[in-house]
Amino acid sequence: RITSAKLPSLKELADFDFKSVPSLNKSRVLELSRCGYIGDHTNLVMVGPPGVGKTHLAIALCLSACRSGYRTKFFTASSIVNTYREARDERLVTRLESSLSKLDMIVIDELGYLPIDRSGAESLFGFFSLCYEQVSVIVTTNLPFAQWPQTFAGDERMTGALLDRLTHRIEILAIEGDSYRLKQSR
Ligand code: ADP
Ligand code: MG
Repeated sequence: RITSAKLPSLKELADFDFKSVPSLNKSRVLELSRCGYIGDHTNLVMVGPPGVGKTHLAIALCLSACRSGYRTKFFTASSIVNTYREARDERLVTRLESSLSKLDMIVIDELGYLPIDRSGAESLFGFFSLCYEQVSVIVTTNLPFAQWPQTFAGDERMTGALLDRLTHRIEILAIEGDSYRLKQSR
């Protein structure tokens, strides 16, 4: 399960230094690692500046989920958009969506760093509709919700409909603080 999750690296919760991010509720994160949110199809959005550990935590939650028997997959916002584009070119979107819907939890990392064009935004809208009440999604982003339309080709209506589904059952972890990378290199 861990192999098919296609994680970019292996990051454990045990290696996460909670003391360096006082704004983060440690007991809430430990609770999430017990995967209850997957059972009730709750989504998780981690929002914060670069380097505060969003990807680390998303990977660690994937590992916990895999070890608890759940099927997960890790994408970046760009890679899910590319995956949809390739599937569309080969007329395999139905097959792609059927394989995505068999998963229990999907990570979409780095939403908001790169602008997404119209067709990419439509793919993501299709993706979140597919996952709604079926598959838990963990999104990591540097953008507050108010700024999401600018990522989705400026389409406020579609972004609104997307957020309506995503946030119906949602837990938001706002992570503040300085970049861990920067602190280490200093
Ligand atoms: P983000 O996704 O928020 O930009 P990352 O999760 O990629 O940040 O973190 C950047 C690097 O710093 C990674 O190597 C990560 O493992 C490490 N890191 C970040 N925060 C912590 C932390 N609190 N404890 C241990 N390592 C951390
Ligand atoms: Mg990251």
